[in-house]
Amino acid sequence: MSATTIAPLASREPTATTPHPLPPRLLGLTQLAHNVAWSWNREARNLFREIDESRWQQLKHNPILLLQQVSEERLTALAANPDFCARYDRVMKWLAAERNDEHTWYARTYPELRDQPIAYFCAEFGFHNSVPIYSGGLGVLAGDHCKSASDLGVPLVGLGIFYRDGYFDQRIRPDGWQEDSPDPFDLDTVPIHPVPGIGGQRHLTTVNTFGRDVHIRVWRMMVGRVAVYLLDSDLEENHADDRPLLSKLYAGGPALRLRQEWLLGVGGVRVLRALGIAPSAWHANEGHAGFMLLERVRMLCADGVPFDEAVRQVRSNSVFTTHTPVPAGHDHFSIDQVAQCAGPIWEEMGVDRTRVLQLGFHPTTGRDTFHMTAACIRMSRRVNGVSERHGAVSRTLCSPLWPGRDDEAVPVGHVTNGVHLATWMANPIMQLLDEHLGPNWGHERSPELWEKVLTLDDEKLWGTHLRLKHVLMRLAREEARKAYSRRTMQAPQLVGAGTLLDPHALTIGFARRFATYKRANLLFRDVERLRALVTNSSRPVQFVFSGKAHPADTPGKQVLQEVYQFTRDPQFEGRIAFIEDYGMHLAHLLVQGVDLWLNLPRVPLEASGTSGMKAALNGVPQFSTIDGWWEEGYDGTNGWAIEPEVDDDKGDRTADRLYTLLETQVVPNFYDRGDDDLPLRWLRMMKNAMRVAGTKFTGRRMVEQYVRAYYAPAILGDALQDDPPIA
Ligand SMILES: *Cc1c(COP(=O)(O)O)cnc(C)c1O
Repeated sequence: MSATTIAPLASREPTATTPHPLPPRLLGLTQLAHNVAWSWNREARNLFREIDESRWQQLKHNPILLLQQVSEERLTALAANPDFCARYDRVMKWLAAERNDEHTWYARTYPELRDQPIAYFCAEFGFHNSVPIYSGGLGVLAGDHCKSASDLGVPLVGLGIFYRDGYFDQRIRPDGWQEDSPDPFDLDTVPIHPVPGIGGQRHLTTVNTFGRDVHIRVWRMMVGRVAVYLLDSDLEENHADDRPLLSKLYAGGPALRLRQEWLLGVGGVRVLRALGIAPSAWHANEGHAGFMLLERVRMLCADGVPFDEAVRQVRSNSVFTTHTPVPAGHDHFSIDQVAQCAGPIWEEMGVDRTRVLQLGFHPTTGRDTFHMTAACIRMSRRVNGVSERHGAVSRTLCSPLWPGRDDEAVPVGHVTNGVHLATWMANPIMQLLDEHLGPNWGHERSPELWEKVLTLDDEKLWGTHLRLKHVLMRLAREEARKAYSRRTMQAPQLVGAGTLLDPHALTIGFARRFATYKRANLLFRDVERLRALVTNSSRPVQFVFSGKAHPADTPGKQVLQEVYQFTRDPQFEGRIAFIEDYGMHLAHLLVQGVDLWLNLPRVPLEASGTSGMKAALNGVPQFSTIDGWWEEGYDGTNGWAIEPEVDDDKGDRTADRLYTLLETQVVPNFYDRGDDDLPLRWLRMMKNAMRVAGTKFTGRRMVEQYVRAYYAPAILGDALQDDPPIA
């Protein structure tokens, strides 16, 4: 077993939260609920569902809450049910095997590296809907990275922040304005456990910032074999102003954000040291995690290593992934603020202040700014973007750091994002593949195997897809019913909540963060043309929108409002819906339950995008501008594309192309029915969507690639020669 997996599951056995004890026969259910790996094991999911199906839905698949609420009689009955017990035993056997990584891909491929942990730092993690410490794509990607690493047996250890206040609950006012309310979570309902501090105290380490010591307490979450440590500053021992520093996700201005990043980076390194974990490679996922690199330089200097040599050593085993294709999206702070935040760390490093702060120098933002991406690049030898196109965009963005080099020669590569298959593919689709591809298909990404998806039975695939479509539409109705009865939704809003959606109509999904560049409102550029499509009585089209705007993003909220108002417009006959409170739970139902996934980012602003991959794994083709992953993913058989040449700043030509393709290709294709009303051409596209996603866009492929191209070379050391001049 590797160093990161032998730690005991939890420091405090999490049994105290169950109001009545579980029957001895089923005692392991608690343990199962406390490792989020249950969420990607179908049999484990089914076990919880079976305990109480309607409650399971109501609780949005939170097994800890379920075990707290289910009646004693029900549990006793299940304990006496031989069929349930047999399945329970199988799941428990699997959970026990999860503790062991002897037979994993990593153990086979890199047996000599199994005891060398890899630290993975990220400002947010999306593991499950019930743990709201993520805001969107970056967090869900980081979650999928950890899950895939667990499957592969990669000795990863995660470092993140314990945002006690959660992200936020979204409610849309009747006028379409988004209202944000805090979404704090109850510690007794999440699989997160405190790690004991040092010397009987609660904190594990201390970080000085703005002249004050901040004690850091740590919580652990088990993600299969991967332990993720979440930092928390809400301790009585801390100054009242410091206690909430880590409570809110991306809230507040740059000053708070700087402190959060400082505590994550510096605190994270110290936490690992306090836990006795000595990583052999370090991965900063996005610039927010960059202070981790600086802290390691400081530590080396404190041990007597000269500054330049310390930077070189840190650099040699560090990996940095950038996720932002626009210069303004990269975090940067004033150097005076950074100096105040950090305190005189240069004294410990034996150099003057400027030498340290110039690690964050970027020629485009100037000498007075500490640019996190520039700092990460100076301190990480291996740097990558998250799609082929984004790799190229990043080379151009970063080229000022290598004066005199052509963009193509800038040493920034790419690893295209991927999604965790077992998390995102619906059970019924997996069942179809079980029957069709035989066992173990889930661990394969060979093109030959995925080619076989093309011969899936049309009737079965269509039947399965329609079932998933019904699940989504039922959810829309039930959520509206609940909100109406709670009086958080008024009667005139019910139609726009999706209660009139028709499972037989072509249903197009658009769900993601409401950032302006994603252009959710582009669809409404020509209302007349859209209305003709939507209200065609023999071939109707309907749209389902979902997504949150960042609480501080007023333009994003305006776009949301604009879209929302169309859901209330009778001329669209109830065929345009907005479902509130997008999160991982809703994301599952949407990517599994619509016919087509729509994405209209302004090129080249989408670094990768991942929701379209999730949809494709479920046989939902994508229609997107050619940007991010779609440039690699689109092959003419698996969806539709708007060429980058067409894309214009105002979006007029893009919108025109969108309508034309919908009118002349998408709609005719969907409604072209053969025997038994089967859309044979459409089914072929669905199968191709699955084929391409299964071969190229899984988390397994992504993490294997990180291991081969970045982690293993970082650990083993190689002779890359790309030190950027420190200008
Ligand atoms: C996958 C996912 C995202 C990212 O979607 P994009 O296509 O990258 O915009 C955002 N939020 C949630 C909840 C997701 O599951």
